[in-house]
Amino acid sequence: MSEQRTALVTGANRGIGFEVCRQLAGKGLRVILTARDGAKADAAAATLGAAGDVIAATLDVSDERSVRGLASDLSRRRLHVDVLVNNAAVLVGESTGVLETAVDDLRATFATNLFGVVSVCQAFVPGMIARGYGRVVNVSSQAGQLQSMGTYAPAYSISKAALNAFTRQLAAATRGRHVLVNSADPGWVRTAMGGPSAPRSVQQGADTLVWLATLPAKGPTGGFFSDRKSIDW
Ligand code: NAP
Repeated sequence: MSEQRTALVTGANRGIGFEVCRQLAGKGLRVILTARDGAKADAAAATLGAAGDVIAATLDVSDERSVRGLASDLSRRRLHVDVLVNNAAVLVGESTGVLETAVDDLRATFATNLFGVVSVCQAFVPGMIARGYGRVVNVSSQAGQLQSMGTYAPAYSISKAALNAFTRQLAAATRGRHVLVNSADPGWVRTAMGGPSAPRSVQQGADTLVWLATLPAKGPTGGFFSDRKSIDW
């Protein structure tokens, strides 16, 4: 029997992140379901209890102390993160123009959508390299595609474009080390962020993320995917 892999998902108390946890647990992975509010992580993990091996943990990705605290707690418990789904994100100033967007809104957005991902990767990817296995999924958005970038949600869109650049950097830095790093666009999904008119269910939104989180050894790295297909940056 192959070794049980452990996946850590950020912002997993609701929406797409929660569904990613459900699907990964259903595939037999041990899942560390994290949320910035520990009580919400506990409640979400309890909901998934029957779906598999799910552990709740508190993680605010925008707080480096929180990231370091979780990394040392998991290390003490001998829980190694093999799969990381960087799902947590915020969307502010959706209809504010780029010239009116407050720099503080850009800072707050980057704190979670980019710097949060960087610190979580810095905490867990070195262990993946050392153990010779890793899968990193950076949950991006079509809004971050440079090729079609328009006026929509400047702070969010620019943060997702920067996240995609981080994906390229991390994929290049880990190439040949058995760690596969990709960006994924879940599509427009019915969640608090996507709103009720979105055409996709969370199950559909999670599909490409779960596929990238469980890629075989010869799977792609350094790509941007939607519906399991490569898309332009
Ligand atoms: P959501 O329902 O708004 O959920 C966002 C999650 O991120 C929540 O669990 C939230 O926690 C968490 N979060 C926010 N800031 C955090 C922080 N500093 N530390 C830890 N967790 C934090 O959004 P969603 O639609 O599921 O989105 C999930 C991912 O898909 C995001 O990366 C988003 O950009 C991407 N995406 C979504 C759509 C869409 O149509 N929904 C489209 C393209 C891309 P709280 O509950 O504590 O706020």
